[in-house]
Amino acid sequence: MNTAALRHRPESEDCYLYTEGLLTLHFHTAKDDVAKVSLIYGDPYLTVLDPATKKTVWRYQTLAMRKIGTGQTEDYWSVDLRMPYSRLQYQFLVEGKDGTTLLYSDRGLREDTPANRTENVFRMPYFHELDRVKTPDWAKETVWYQIFPERFANGDKHNDPEGTKPWRPADHPGREDYYGGDLQGVLDHLDDLQALGVNGLYFCPLFTAASNHKYDTIDYFDIDPDFGDKALFAKLVSEAHQRGMKVMLDAVFNHIGEHSLQWQDVLKNGADSRFASWFHISNYPLTPFHDPNRGEGKPQYETFAFEPHMPKLNTANPEVQDYLLNVATYWIKTFDIDAWRLDVANEVDHHFWKRFYQATQRAKKDFLIIGEVWHSSQPWLNGDQFSGVMNYAYTEQIEDHFLTHKLSAKSLVELLTDQLMMYRPQNDQVMLNMLDSHDTARLLTVAHGDEDLALQALAFTFTQTGMPCIYYGTEMGMAGENDPDCRRPMDWSKLNGPVWQRVHALIAFRRKYAKTLGQGTTRLTVTPSGLIKVVRAGDARSWRTSTRPPSPLRWPQRRRWPKAIRPAS
Ligand code: CA
Repeated sequence: MNTAALRHRPESEDCYLYTEGLLTLHFHTAKDDVAKVSLIYGDPYLTVLDPATKKTVWRYQTLAMRKIGTGQTEDYWSVDLRMPYSRLQYQFLVEGKDGTTLLYSDRGLREDTPANRTENVFRMPYFHELDRVKTPDWAKETVWYQIFPERFANGDKHNDPEGTKPWRPADHPGREDYYGGDLQGVLDHLDDLQALGVNGLYFCPLFTAASNHKYDTIDYFDIDPDFGDKALFAKLVSEAHQRGMKVMLDAVFNHIGEHSLQWQDVLKNGADSRFASWFHISNYPLTPFHDPNRGEGKPQYETFAFEPHMPKLNTANPEVQDYLLNVATYWIKTFDIDAWRLDVANEVDHHFWKRFYQATQRAKKDFLIIGEVWHSSQPWLNGDQFSGVMNYAYTEQIEDHFLTHKLSAKSLVELLTDQLMMYRPQNDQVMLNMLDSHDTARLLTVAHGDEDLALQALAFTFTQTGMPCIYYGTEMGMAGENDPDCRRPMDWSKLNGPVWQRVHALIAFRRKYAKTLGQGTTRLTVTPSGLIKVVRAGDARSWRTSTRPPSPLRWPQRRRWPKAIRPAS
């Protein structure tokens, strides 16, 4: 037995409360190496009299664990249990395929003897409902639609920026181009979005900024005049809510735009600026900026990447924290938004995000927080910072199988299983699963223009755990290379066209089975003939529920739709 591969950590994604009172434990072993894993467990304070020794000993039970998946190098074992007194002590009995039997305990590996079974146990001293990681149930049934506001629709010519170009969907936009998209354009098309079937709108930044993408915030407390004003935004949120759509805003709290009042004051007054401590400044003068990539030495101040126009905010400064938390709660309390998507969230300190979580949860019950993290995200997903993250780590692998064929079906299933097992299912269920965005090439372009292939990858994504997200224009079959080309003006001529119909059918499928697909867990396997089998279970982890999963969806390698979502011919 490969003992080096045995792994478990209490109070982590290996040992957690899933639903109220229901505890799930996972154990890791090397792939195909172990025949059986059992949990030896009990309440630490329950004892029994040993008739042989006449001594009082710990009263334990054993429970077989189920193998629930296989990753690239590991097998995953799982068991669910309820403890009447909310306390647990435990260890694992591991039986290798080579006949070795060992106890995996809190203090290493031990021989399986009666005495050892009662010693060196792991502890969950007391599990509190308050500490259970919770994510909003509404989010698990949401299909998001991402809007890049400058390119969605121009509903008001009066607010068009100077030099606005004609709305030509075939254009390849330049970095500095404007097309006049705005909030009135979104309002004008809300009925179209409702007809498409989405029930969540995710807006790229709307706040006053200097660029067309608005990621260089000037004023977090106002809507950019290119897009409209606060009254119009309030109307938009209200109209969306009336249609059963949630609203998610995007904000950058890692850095601020160079044209902000705060940074302009620092540029003008240097070390004497009242905002100097809002930033990470090591020396003056601040200009010209020293770019290490051009051999100019260490920059005078910290920035996003080495971008002098985006100075990094000092979120260790309580004044900055309070300012940003006011921003966060202002848009919730005044406009009733339902979620924040946080740009460059991984470069901001955890201390700030914990305060952010507390402030937003106080402002609105079941508020959703999605962080932009492109890599393993366990540190942010312990119930006190984010609900989920932008799940590129998951969806890029779907593209690598379906679209670019870099991964075999077997590798895809193993890698996706590894991703799912990194987090508690309540977090997996609210990951933002998008195949493309304003930051990546469009789905159809990655699929080399093959609509069937693009839609097949999308269909697969819609069966997975996590909130599916459609990037504006995907339903119109739009193409585009990496940004800025993926930000072309929306092609409204394709509304209700063949691609739109198929995306519409896919969204209807997901929403019809929202409970199962949203709340359940996923098991992925590959048949010997190379079919990917996706089994979604309602609350199958809990043997108490009667929810039956729909029949497994069988996935051919290419170009065939599962019957449930095959487009009408
Ligand atoms: Ca406009």
